[in-house]
Amino acid sequence: MVLKAELHCHIEGAASPALVRKKARQNGISIDGLIDANGHYIWNDFTSFLNAYDRAAAVFITEQDYSDLSHDYFSSAAAQGMIYGEIFASPDHAELAGLSYTAYIEALADGIKRAGNETGIEGRIIVTCVRHFGPERAEPVARLLHTHPHPMVTGFGIGGDERMFHPADFARAFQTAADAGMGLTAHAGEFAGPESVRAVLDELDVKRIGHGVRSVEDADLLHRLREEDIVLEVCPGSNVSLGLCSGRDTHPFTALRTAGVRMTLNSDDPPFFQTSIGQEYEEGALAFRLAAVDLVAITHQAIEAAFVDEPTRQRLFQRLFDD
Ligand SMILES: [Zn+2]
Repeated sequence: MVLKAELHCHIEGAASPALVRKKARQNGISIDGLIDANGHYIWNDFTSFLNAYDRAAAVFITEQDYSDLSHDYFSSAAAQGMIYGEIFASPDHAELAGLSYTAYIEALADGIKRAGNETGIEGRIIVTCVRHFGPERAEPVARLLHTHPHPMVTGFGIGGDERMFHPADFARAFQTAADAGMGLTAHAGEFAGPESVRAVLDELDVKRIGHGVRSVEDADLLHRLREEDIVLEVCPGSNVSLGLCSGRDTHPFTALRTAGVRMTLNSDDPPFFQTSIGQEYEEGALAFRLAAVDLVAITHQAIEAAFVDEPTRQRLFQRLFDD
């Protein structure tokens, strides 16, 4: 089995329907109409996807719930050959559940550590703000990285609707996070075009882009991504599910690869898109004609771009090399 690493997965979006059922029962929350008879989340467009996502996230309330959530994700990913993963954590979601930032992060870290003890998997947390909530919400989140540091929190990012606000509005939040030693990443070039990717590069000084696949529409931008060694966190299953392309066979992965852009493979919100890190590698190999050596190179790329301390990075390279 090819060893894998994942840099782009939203932890609330990784909640398996089985775990959501269990937590809904324990916490007395109705999930009628959320999961179908085959155990899949029910949604059919972007609005109903966001609604299903929020309803699934809402069953996680206590510290034990969040610890079980990250434990479940990292354990199942380890069984698929993943040796390293970074999860996006959203303090805004925890706040809705009534959990403090510290309790939320400690709980997620506890689940990662438990999975690590059982399987050897390594994990880190990227704290994310939500673009459509605006900079007034993002800046306090970035300041938490200074006031409440945690060894497993190593990155800062932004998700949400990239058509709302401008990256310049978030420059101060990103600078605050960078000053706290965080690695930086931003979602762009998913629903909006190359100008969105360019704006993020200009304003936020990121080294990684979440998705970024629409960069393929602009040769000058491709040149810039190559020159500046930017890594795209590509999520083909997500792009297909949300209708960016009709199938993996029409996904821009191969065109981006041919253009020399650095990329990793990721699952984004795996059960919502009926995917997993294992499936992304497996189906990516078929659709993009990647040999085992190419898949290992993708894992190598992910470890190289990981927001992790150097000793851990070298240990991960060694695991890959020994395999
Ligand atoms: Zn994402």
